[in-house]
Amino acid sequence: MQRSIVLLGSTGSVGRQTLETAELLGIKVLALSADRNIELLEEQTRRFRPAVVAVTNEKAAQDFKLRVSDMDVQVLSGSNGLVEAAQTKGTDTVVTAVVGMAGLLPTLAAIELGRRIALANKETLVCAGELVMRRAQQYKAEIIPVDSEHSAIFQCLAAGARSEVKRIILTASGGAFRTMSREELKNVTPQMAMLHPTWNMGKKITVDSATLMNKGLEVIEAVHLFGIPVGKVKVMVHPESIIHSMVEFTDNSVIAQLAQPDMRLPIQYALTYPQRQPSLTAELDIASLSCLRFEEPDTEAFPCLNLAIKTAGKSGTAGSVLNGANEAAVDLFLRGELGFYGIYESVLAALCGIKSIEEPTIDDIIQAGEEAKRFVYSHRM
Ligand code: MG
Repeated sequence: MQRSIVLLGSTGSVGRQTLETAELLGIKVLALSADRNIELLEEQTRRFRPAVVAVTNEKAAQDFKLRVSDMDVQVLSGSNGLVEAAQTKGTDTVVTAVVGMAGLLPTLAAIELGRRIALANKETLVCAGELVMRRAQQYKAEIIPVDSEHSAIFQCLAAGARSEVKRIILTASGGAFRTMSREELKNVTPQMAMLHPTWNMGKKITVDSATLMNKGLEVIEAVHLFGIPVGKVKVMVHPESIIHSMVEFTDNSVIAQLAQPDMRLPIQYALTYPQRQPSLTAELDIASLSCLRFEEPDTEAFPCLNLAIKTAGKSGTAGSVLNGANEAAVDLFLRGELGFYGIYESVLAALCGIKSIEEPTIDDIIQAGEEAKRFVYSHRM
């Protein structure tokens, strides 16, 4: 069977690697989307010939229409356009690689059509995990993780029954500042945060890796995705990023997934599951792995991790507040308007200052995230 995908967020890091993978596997790309990078989007449109392209920025959408006026392609705009693109006819899989809360509504729209979701937008589960997983069950939509750690866990879980899982060991590279003390971290710059030792990723997630907030968001993601209590998820720093995560079973057997740190592998697995095919990822040279290190995370130097873990145990809109506040704080940090610990302080203040709503609707969840952003922008730490 020839697979076909809708790719939401095609110009970002995961989006570009998804297209490389689709090309290798001969997967048909039925729809693409981007926010405003229309130059690259045009290149992708000419190469992959999708039937539908969504551009969320309205002005960029107008410009894009002119650029591709010689082509037979439907151009959609705005956030409604993104939702419509997610429901493109004839698709079996929707890859959600958009950044932030923008991924939530299109993901839900695709779930309602029973599509497989190759989930690369962790905010969807961080903000609305309970609701999204409930809907996925209701509409029999598979959610296959693209996040490398969750893909690893998903693969390791195949080694036993869910009732036999003792804990999940989520590995973290430790980010750009792994060995730094609290004192040294006070003065780090956005440029320094961009120098990630093992992974090549987008700006926002690279900062999240440096604060360990990314690992915290991944704990929340794992709790929802695998239906496991937060107390059974353990974070371990593993600087080499070769073991992408592990699952420990009741008999104390630990199953790990190893591979080169290359997102094209988890992307591909989400597209081909339950099958495996040759990939673009280089072979792992086991003989060259002279040392794989593991350390407990330094939660004093990187307090965002525990803040997120605490939030993972809460229901309601707390996840959305955490995520929205972090998005705004990272934006301020990247613009040089907030220090490294200002990110933690801003998120903590938003969590304390905004009341969580229990049993939230989708609208409550979106509003809570927006309120958290406004809170951070107006209370500069
Ligand atoms: Mg990850």
